[in-house]
This record gives sequence, structure tokens and C-alpha cells, in this order.
Amino acid sequence: MPVDIISVEKLHSGYNSSKVLNDVTFNITKGDYVGLVGPNGSGKTTLIKTILGLFEPMEGNVSIFGERSWEFKDWHKVGYLPQKLVSFNPHFPATVKEIVALGLLSKKAFPRKIDRNDEMAINKALDLMDISDLKDKLIGELSGGQGQRVLLAKALVNEPDLLILDEPVTALDPETRERFFNILEELNQVNKVTIILVTHDIGTIGKYASKLLYLDKKIIFYGSFEDFCGSDHMTRYFGKFSQHIICHRHN
Ligand code: ADP
Repeated sequence: MPVDIISVEKLHSGYNSSKVLNDVTFNITKGDYVGLVGPNGSGKTTLIKTILGLFEPMEGNVSIFGERSWEFKDWHKVGYLPQKLVSFNPHFPATVKEIVALGLLSKKAFPRKIDRNDEMAINKALDLMDISDLKDKLIGELSGGQGQRVLLAKALVNEPDLLILDEPVTALDPETRERFFNILEELNQVNKVTIILVTHDIGTIGKYASKLLYLDKKIIFYGSFEDFCGSDHMTRYFGKFSQHIICHRHN
């Protein structure tokens, strides 16, 4: 039996009285690699925030690892990279190593001290993102791409079971982007990490993800790329050309 990592049932969600998500139902099971795609304002970030328990749904239920998201406590199982990159003040007095270490603190009780195992985990995450040489640099001194890699290392340092990445590659150069996608693929295939990748890049997501969740305030499509590409209903919805753009890397 596949294990549900996320289960969303009849979710209605939004802000004050304006509803953004309408009757959204889907499951994500262990080892899924889901590309979450949709136009601007289609509710992708709202959905992620609801999954992360940042607000209660207006109606319906959202479970993460079998618990209601707003009651869930084991956040160390989840690595999250938000969309908006925080730009650090150049004089912000934290090093790369300290920022990555923050990712470990969510599973620690007080007093929160970094031990030898933590050091090893931090070094491993820095090595994975190829930024070991930046370890002692101040975070504010880094370029945008370097800063993004630091935040990715922070999201990975706990070896999370679920990774949620909101537009993660925008500040990365093509080489680092490729490397980053290779790392995600390995985490997904070898370590069975479940991944949700939010992206505008509808033309390349099929190259990486195994499932497509297309959202436009409600679910337009959820399933494998094979099913999406072979669906006459989706041809009618998107038109042959747009369907082809989403599919071409998959054919
Ligand atoms: P996406 O991530 O797909 O671009 P969002 O979930 O960010 O979409 O936004 C969906 C809708 O919700 C938009 O119309 C947006 O203006 C609105 N919205 C987003 N955040 C807030 C907020 N904090 N308060 C009120 N409305 C919001």
C-alpha cells in the first residue's frame, strides 16, 4: 500500500472572504515527484501554505504524514524553500554554516547545541550544494545564486522525507540548475524523498517530475505525465500546442 504523505480532501481555502482554492482533492504518496504548475494567482502558494499549516482551511481537510497540518509537529521531516528569497543585509552577522545549522534546530530540544553529528550533516549538505568553500563567509556577502544554494542546503540538512520547493531555480545559473535537478532526482530515486516542485517552467517540469498537478483555483489535472499527454480532455482544455509544450520532453 502506498503511504500518503499528503492528503487533501475537499479543500476550500483563501483570504478573508475571498476564496482562492475550490474543492481541491488529491493525495501525494511516498516517493512521488510532483510538479505543481498553474498560472499566476492560481493558488499554488496558497495551497503550499495550507499544506504547511500556516492557516486553517475554510473547509475540508489537509493531512501531512497522517496528521492534520495545523496540528502537525514533526516539521523536521519537511524541507521547505520559500519562493521569495530573503535578501540578507550585507552586514547580517551570520555565516553560511550558521544559516544551514538553523535547518537542524527544529528537531532539537533546548538547549539547542550543535554536536558532532550536526557538524557532519552540515558539511554533507554544503558539499551536496558545492558550497563547502563558502562555509565561513557572511551570508550577506554572497551572490543571489550562492544565497539560493545556501537556503537549499538548509532545506536539505535534516534529510527531510518531504521537500517542498517554490520556484527554486530562478537565481541559479544553468550549470548549477542542472546539478540541482540531478541532486533532486537522486534524493527522489535513491532516498525516496517525496518532492513537490512549484514552477512556472511548464516546458521543462516534465523532464524532472513524475506527476503533474495543474492548478487553476481548482484542480485541472492531477496524474502522470503519460496520462496528461495522452488525454483528449487536456488537448481540448489547453489546445494541442500547449499540451505539446508540457509534454515534449516526455515523449
Ligand atoms: P500563485 O502562487 O499561483 O501565483 P497565490 O496562491 O500566491 O497564487 O495567490 C492566489 C490568489 O490569492 C491571488 O489572487 C492573490 O492575490 C491572493 N492572495 C495571495 N496571498 C494573499 C494574502 N496574504 N492576502 C490576500 N490575498 C492573497
